[in-house]
Amino acid sequence: MKRISIEGQTAVITGAGRGIGRGIAEEFARAGADLALNDYNPIPDDLVEFVKSEGRRVVTIQADVSKTSDCERIIETAVKELGRLDILVNNAGITRDGLLMRMDEAQWDTVLAVNLKSVFACSRAAVKHMVRARKGAIVSISSIVGIIGNAGQCNYAASKAGIIGFSKSLARELGGRNIRVNMVAPGFITSDMTNALDEKTRERVLANVPLGTFGQIADVANAVLWLASPLASYITGAVLQVDGGMAM
Ligand code: NAD
Repeated sequence: MKRISIEGQTAVITGAGRGIGRGIAEEFARAGADLALNDYNPIPDDLVEFVKSEGRRVVTIQADVSKTSDCERIIETAVKELGRLDILVNNAGITRDGLLMRMDEAQWDTVLAVNLKSVFACSRAAVKHMVRARKGAIVSISSIVGIIGNAGQCNYAASKAGIIGFSKSLARELGGRNIRVNMVAPGFITSDMTNALDEKTRERVLANVPLGTFGQIADVANAVLWLASPLASYITGAVLQVDGGMAM
């Protein structure tokens, strides 16, 4: 089977320690990229070993993407250690759910800082290098919740919708410099979170998914890889929904 190749490119992935970010890291390593992997928690040894076993270089950067100085450190370390930066994947994200009437300011501020301010800070730091190289691709993980909303997630939905407005604006700023900016908006993806749902909730969710199943981490990782790869070279400012048709 022909694989998508990003051979010889370097990529920064935030929140790469587990879940979707880890899946993206594994897919990128298989596709030939050297990787700078960030997470708030230490990157697991077996992930580092996997990337090396694919013949790729890997650097790990423990940092908090809600802090602008940490985002700058992630990008600068990646460029210093790997020599260049071709791809940035803004993946790190959190939820602090609650109905608006009971949502406190910290719930709002934390989610907006981790999910949205990080995309501003990491992208700004990365773009400096990409503009100089006249080449680059940024892919940020939004959510269908940022498109259709979700009760109990005003903060999360605002952050994910914010990523869309931010990325479309940046795509317009950087199109002439050969830098593409795209988004992936996952629906319900099999994860620790969706595994914890009770049977009734699962059935209710799946009733709204035309393809009838939850997505897999690989479904999201493949979409990110394709958007970052030369196969998507005429695509910028796009939101690719990976949601089984849920939000069409
Ligand atoms: P996850 O919680 O399994 O993984 C998120 C990773 O980000 C963790 O390793 C965590 O340590 C890291 N992280 C959290 N805060 C951080 C910080 N301040 N700095 C650096 N790293 C930090 O979540 P996931 O399900 O893999 O989600 C990944 C992305 O996909 C998120 O942006 C999420 O909003 C989005 N998403 C997920 C789903 C889903 O169904 N799982 C659906 C839509 C969108």
